[in-house]
Amino acid sequence: MIPVKRLTASPKKQKLQLQAIQSVLTSGNFILGKHVDDFERSWAQFCGASYSVGVANGMDALEIGMRCLDIGPGDEVITTDITAFATVLSILKLGATPVLADIDPSSGLISEESVKSLINPRTKAIIVVHLYGYFKNIQKWKDIADSAGVHLIEDCAQAHGCVDSTGNRVGLTGIFSAFSFYPTKNLGGYGDSGALVTNQHEIYERSKILRNYGQSSQYEHKFIGLNSRMDELQAALLLIELQNLEKETKSRRTIADNYRQNINNPNVFFLEEPHHKYSHVYHQFVVKVKDRSGFQNHLENCGVMSQIHYPCAISAQPIMRQYIKDFCDRYQSHTFAGECVSIPCFPGMTPLEIDAVTAAVQSYS
Ligand SMILES: *Cc1c(COP(=O)(O)O)cnc(C)c1O
Repeated sequence: MIPVKRLTASPKKQKLQLQAIQSVLTSGNFILGKHVDDFERSWAQFCGASYSVGVANGMDALEIGMRCLDIGPGDEVITTDITAFATVLSILKLGATPVLADIDPSSGLISEESVKSLINPRTKAIIVVHLYGYFKNIQKWKDIADSAGVHLIEDCAQAHGCVDSTGNRVGLTGIFSAFSFYPTKNLGGYGDSGALVTNQHEIYERSKILRNYGQSSQYEHKFIGLNSRMDELQAALLLIELQNLEKETKSRRTIADNYRQNINNPNVFFLEEPHHKYSHVYHQFVVKVKDRSGFQNHLENCGVMSQIHYPCAISAQPIMRQYIKDFCDRYQSHTFAGECVSIPCFPGMTPLEIDAVTAAVQSYS
């Protein structure tokens, strides 16, 4: 079976990992130490940002950043109806109201028209999610947010290292951005962690306080904070992963190019092709099919695994009924959630595996 993701490390990498683990174990410091400092510096540099703050996961990076903006009860935050549930959960955790926007079915990304129609005086922020690793039109989003007088936030949990057609780097246009290093992400650790990235000194200072119980110095509590600290072990292991990120992203793009060139099955629909080579990092390679379970069964019979990101629009989750004002019944997100399929696309896929996936998709009817 060809998996959707393969997370095992090469023997060479494992050797580096064991050394890194040992250096943490002998340091006697396991949380917010030297490795976290090093990683934060390296991650900010990779992103081209002034600051990066290591936290416990990507969802906390969103919550902490929004707390720095004083978003809370009574405030509305607009985001997309197709995303990881964590995006919306971070808004709910603040006591703020998530307002779900429809998507553009050709890309799966949040729709501009829908967002514009939802902006009102209670709107405090728009969270744009660079879904599947596709980073598009960030300047347009900045203009929309600026003209509405609201904050733009980037959820970059799937988009490590994107650059758009005008050279904007992912995560730098929003007032802050959130990254996740969950094991399956493009930069993945060996447990949970995440980072908030920003050019704003005030957000940087405040988020460092918030992640650590809200203490500004030991036992002095300036804010009501969280326990959302980054582990030394994760930081040490992520520093190793970071060295391979560019190479791995290149490999994801090669696989995606291969699919785009060699698959032309009329029953399988590709999402929009990015205008710029570097603006997609292919966290997932997603296609749409009308009979999804038939397609997935066919792939499985050919030895190819697939996954669904995501099988249910956020607004269709039963638990959301009590938290949203509108059930978004006429949204295109529901059709999209019924048709999308992620096929294998991960660094380390062999040419034989790429060909086998291509053949499996091509032979579907
Ligand atoms: C994974 C993910 C998150 C949450 O990250 P965690 O580290 O799991 O908390 C948020 N948004 C998106 C789009 C994600 O894919």
